[in-house]
Amino acid sequence: MSDAHNAILEPLINETDLHAGISQLVDRIADDFDGDELYVIGLLRGSFMFTADLVRLLYRRDVRLVIDFMTVASYGSGTESSGEVNMMRDVHLDLTDKPVLLVDDILDTGRTLSFASQHLSEFKLASLKTCVFLDKPSRRVVPFEADYVGFTVPDLFVVGYGLDFDGRYRELPHLSVIQTPRSTGSDHPDHTPP
Ligand code: 5GP
Ligand code: MG
Repeated sequence: MSDAHNAILEPLINETDLHAGISQLVDRIADDFDGDELYVIGLLRGSFMFTADLVRLLYRRDVRLVIDFMTVASYGSGTESSGEVNMMRDVHLDLTDKPVLLVDDILDTGRTLSFASQHLSEFKLASLKTCVFLDKPSRRVVPFEADYVGFTVPDLFVVGYGLDFDGRYRELPHLSVIQTPRSTGSDHPDHTPP
């Protein structure tokens, strides 16, 4: 499929497979947090769709939830990130003694989740688990493993289901691989799409 911006999109995970994978993930989370009131913190903007589906499925599994969002951003010049991650919007909840599930769209270099986890752990939580829709282990710079992973993907620049390229394609209900001219434009400045 080619769109108005001349990007070529190739489907990678279709909607049916995507929802099947997320259902399995939710089964594991629901079993692990049986009876607890779980504090779900989604990282904006990329995780908005994944978080929305996750919490609705957790509701159906009778997991009681408190939900908030956090925004962090990494900065860099050109295609290389400085590796620095900054807090743009903090959680507005008291997380002391709470079990927290930190949710992101994709675990890539590991910088974002490592920073966000470190930040949340300063709240003296009861527990902290991390959940990602996608994991790209081959790109890791900072050692980090998520507790719950929907899908492991190769080193491709993916869009859809919340993930963008220059603000576009977040609305796709499935996951696609994007092939564009060499440039960066997503909210992830150190990754160069092929
Ligand atoms: P990390 O800090 O782990 O390198 O980066 C995580 C963030 O980079 C994700 O939350 C996401 O915003 C962005 N990112 C990493 N890989 C991709 C990708 O393949 N596609 C898109 N659209 N964003 C990505
Ligand atoms: Mg992100």
